[in-house]
Amino acid sequence: MEPKLNSTVSISDHRLVTARQLPSPHFDARPDADDISLLVIHCISLPEGSYGSPYVEQLFLGSLDTSPGSDFAYLDGLRVSSHLVIRRDGAVEQYVPFNQRAWHAGKSSYCGRTRCNDFSIGIELEGTDQDRYTEAQYQQLALITAALLSHYPQLRRDRIVGHEDIAPGRKTDPGRGFDWQRYRNQLQAMENSCPEQEKL
Ligand SMILES: [Zn+2]
Repeated sequence: MEPKLNSTVSISDHRLVTARQLPSPHFDARPDADDISLLVIHCISLPEGSYGSPYVEQLFLGSLDTSPGSDFAYLDGLRVSSHLVIRRDGAVEQYVPFNQRAWHAGKSSYCGRTRCNDFSIGIELEGTDQDRYTEAQYQQLALITAALLSHYPQLRRDRIVGHEDIAPGRKTDPGRGFDWQRYRNQLQAMENSCPEQEKL
């Protein structure tokens, strides 16, 4: 009998079972609930380059102190979120269920179609455009991507982009620190290792 891979992740009720659930108020309904057909990779850290702080969580939960004079006053009024955040150690947080529209991409366009939030899933890697991402993040990202591709058939390996690709000139993440080839290789290896992954 084949050993069961314990390195797979599963999705239930549009949530990643292994993620810490932190429901954000920053979401609304997708115009077409069944259209989940693009994956957008981002990075974020607050302050930039500072890891492990609670501020990203607070930003997405709408509880960050942005009052005048505070460190994050420049973010006042910003209401954003992402479906997932992958921390430096590979820990995953989910802020919005995948079937809802998270507010991660802003003004954006993919293959001539605007408003990418409508039809995409956003994943934030804790990081900056310049820093290298961690092995734990690549591992977790590949695992999650494989689960998403399996669960949402309109997502495909050729429909995975960086924020910089859909908002050029405005956004630069995940930046040159993100190794696309490494990500794609890991994804490929994962798909080869579990060809009969169940659709949940
Ligand atoms: Zn972004």
